[in-house]
Amino acid sequence: MIAIIGGGPGGLTLARVLHVHGIDAVVFERDAGPEARAQGGMLDLHTDTGQAALRAAGLEQQFLAVARREGQDMRLLDHTGTLLLQEDTPDDAPMARPEIDRADLRDLLLASLPPGTVRWGSAFNRAKARAGGYVVFLDDGSEIECDLLVGADGANSRVRPLVTDARPVYGGSTAIDSAIHDADRTQPELAAMVGRGNYWVFGPDRHLAAQRNGDGTIRVGISLQGTPDLDSDLLDGWHPRFRRLWAARDEPVVVRPVNVMPTGLTWPRRPGVTLLGDAAHLMRPVGQGANLAMLDAADLARAIAAHPGDLDAAVADYEPAMLSRAAETAKQSAAVSEMMIGPDAAQNLLRFFQPEPVD
Ligand SMILES: Cc1cc2nc3c(=O)[nH]c(=O)nc-3n(C[C@H](O)[C@H](O)[C@H](O)COP(=O)(O)OP(=O)(O)OC[C@H]3O[C@@H](n4cnc5c(N)ncnc54)[C@H](O)[C@@H]3O)c2cc1C
Repeated sequence: MIAIIGGGPGGLTLARVLHVHGIDAVVFERDAGPEARAQGGMLDLHTDTGQAALRAAGLEQQFLAVARREGQDMRLLDHTGTLLLQEDTPDDAPMARPEIDRADLRDLLLASLPPGTVRWGSAFNRAKARAGGYVVFLDDGSEIECDLLVGADGANSRVRPLVTDARPVYGGSTAIDSAIHDADRTQPELAAMVGRGNYWVFGPDRHLAAQRNGDGTIRVGISLQGTPDLDSDLLDGWHPRFRRLWAARDEPVVVRPVNVMPTGLTWPRRPGVTLLGDAAHLMRPVGQGANLAMLDAADLARAIAAHPGDLDAAVADYEPAMLSRAAETAKQSAAVSEMMIGPDAAQNLLRFFQPEPVD
């Protein structure tokens, strides 16, 4: 049996792509049920990673039916109020990075799995190696024997210590998130200002990001270096319209220190266990994490299908490519994050999105 710990984008994609190949797996998810926890904002799934995984999962059409093309809209401003770039997505634009609500993605994947594949309310506690696999111990006291244990349990993975001593460390910045619900009705002016997609405002040492979700909520957040004093005015000196946007939030803020795993991490291969997604390679949040988790999952499932009866050969195929892709993407993510810091951040981002033509 293949035991997948964690029913996030990575774990569910793995179960689905295995199912497409006629291979059974069980997902052990800590949440009590699909509605136990708000899933948060939108994800933009890229053609060559997240969308490629959905193609391997046979779910491309279902994805395109719920994905929001207009979510690709972008407005880039500096903190004085100057609009630097506005990109509105034409109705016939390619779906290169359409947005999907996390809850919609989860529903889509869940609906594609045979009933009973996900065991809700099943928190992984620890596991012990046995001949040909692992015994998994859940918090509820039950024990499950598996031939392959896959840690898809996210940033604070409890499966990870079975393969490496590496731990996430604080990456030096903090994200503060909140939301404005039913924004078109409650804050029509601000909703129009944000538009249909992403709205980014860069100041000298922090940035504000707002994002329209499919359900009419606007997610709004501030990212800054270090640890914020939440009692201070986080947008001191910014144009009043951005201060109004932040002040309009109607959900308690969630403060997330940005943690990262060491870039270029590898581990010696351990029979019977592997990792994917944030459990394997937590990196700076610049829109790659869910995409990578899903591609890892599709690759692992394909490797398992390509090595019938030899799970260790499958993992031996999967891990080096996954780790090297993660190292490369982590470097790129760190470079993009670096660009978003400091007095030149707005101009850096403008150049990033609109590179000057080379003669
Ligand atoms: C604010 C924010 C915005 C983001 N925006 C984007 C974006 O636009 N695009 C993008 O690609 N990425 C984005 N990311 C990153 C992305 O959310 C993650 O990289 C992605 O969710 C990782 O997927 P995963 O399946 O590996 O882990 P997760 O999504 O973390 O899923 C792990 C699952 O495991 C479960 N679990 C945890 N512990 C246990 C346990 N002990 N037993 C059983 N189950 C357990 C959890 O309940 C969860 O369901 C963002 C992250 C944040 C914080």
